[in-house]
Amino acid sequence: MNRCMMKVYIETYGCALNVHDTVVMESYIDLNGHTLVSNIEDADAIIVNTCAVRLDTERRMEKRLRELFNKYPDKKLVVAGCLAKARPYLVHKVAPNASMLSPQSIHKISMVLESPRKIILLDGSKERGSLPAITNSKTIATIAVSEGCLSNCSFCITKIARRKVSSYPVSIVVETIKKLVEKGVKEIRLTAQDMGVYGYDIIGKKMLPELINSIIKRVEGEYYLRIGMMSPQHLSEMLDDIIPLYKDQHLFKFFHIPVQSGSDKVLRLMNREYSIDEYVSLVKEIRRKLPESYIATDIIVGHPGEGSEDFLQTIELVKLLEFDKVHIARYTYRPRTLAGKLTQVPEAEKKRRSSILASIVENIGLKKNSEFLGKTIEAIILDEGFKRQSLIARASNYRPVVISKEYNRLLGKRAPILITDYTFFDLRGVPIDDTC
Ligand code: SF4
Repeated sequence: MNRCMMKVYIETYGCALNVHDTVVMESYIDLNGHTLVSNIEDADAIIVNTCAVRLDTERRMEKRLRELFNKYPDKKLVVAGCLAKARPYLVHKVAPNASMLSPQSIHKISMVLESPRKIILLDGSKERGSLPAITNSKTIATIAVSEGCLSNCSFCITKIARRKVSSYPVSIVVETIKKLVEKGVKEIRLTAQDMGVYGYDIIGKKMLPELINSIIKRVEGEYYLRIGMMSPQHLSEMLDDIIPLYKDQHLFKFFHIPVQSGSDKVLRLMNREYSIDEYVSLVKEIRRKLPESYIATDIIVGHPGEGSEDFLQTIELVKLLEFDKVHIARYTYRPRTLAGKLTQVPEAEKKRRSSILASIVENIGLKKNSEFLGKTIEAIILDEGFKRQSLIARASNYRPVVISKEYNRLLGKRAPILITDYTFFDLRGVPIDDTC
């Protein structure tokens, strides 16, 4: 039977996992003889790989799907990703003819494209036979080593979209990194919904230490691993195994450990599986054993049940631990979640609290970064900065150092950089030896 070859346009939203899923779909589309096009007008089919993480994101997705559905009634529309899995009725309401694919069914994309009918595939399990490595630039690559988590946080809709832990085997990750390093990639970002549970689906045990160990033993050359977000309870369990590995020169001393709130009461409402005391001990232990560590965290402001006293406890925690980076998110209502059923904090109060917290975080950042002024630090120059007007280098703990674009010839190289200025967010400097 003759298959209909299609020209396919893809739009992607959301996190590195979703970007990774798009690369997987592209490889299947290509393998099956369809053509990817960059201009939507040329396409026979449009795939929207969606995100559902926040209410504002969902509204943006809804608007875009409605727009595409109305503007291109003759093109096939496929809604893939988290919104399709978590909010299929919403997708159906705004784009009734659209086919839907869960993140777990993306390997069936060609079958969906080739079918003359609307297809809905919202279950399935992820294929883990080969691993596409996304090169963000000449020097940086992202590898989504697993998806899914073992927790059930009250606020998270991703739990519905990417339920089970599903990981690529260690050997596949190692081989992929070898190829990337051979191509000249210097920074490898290992990412997952929760790096702390990598491998749990493979042998019923958290395998992150084993993964890191295999990479540093088996991949030679100059490269740096940045390990993505790890939930505190999993990192605590593995800390004795992880710390010696982090001492290896191939690891950025970077930890992304979301705390979410400084109040034990709110952590319980959130269904987080640790207490503030446990979290504080974890961070202190990391800093004791690896003093140069960079600690990034996430905080949700205005989760249902967060009173003024709870918010003050979050402020106290931030002041106590002086995080190197804090991502502040105002809680947004998500349907089908535990927090969605609770009484909501008024929007104006959430805004007020998040701006108070943001200014505290800025002051801490300014204080910490001011300590580098006049010092020289060793960093690797990895990427172009904002609007390509500068270059971003990374210290051994991933602290960003912005340098002038005129040092383009140093991309991918290490250099000592004299720190001449700073913001709350990054350091600014000048390479002092451009013979490197
Ligand atoms: S919902 Fe979460 S996992 Fe899904 S694309 Fe958005 S950020 Fe990524």
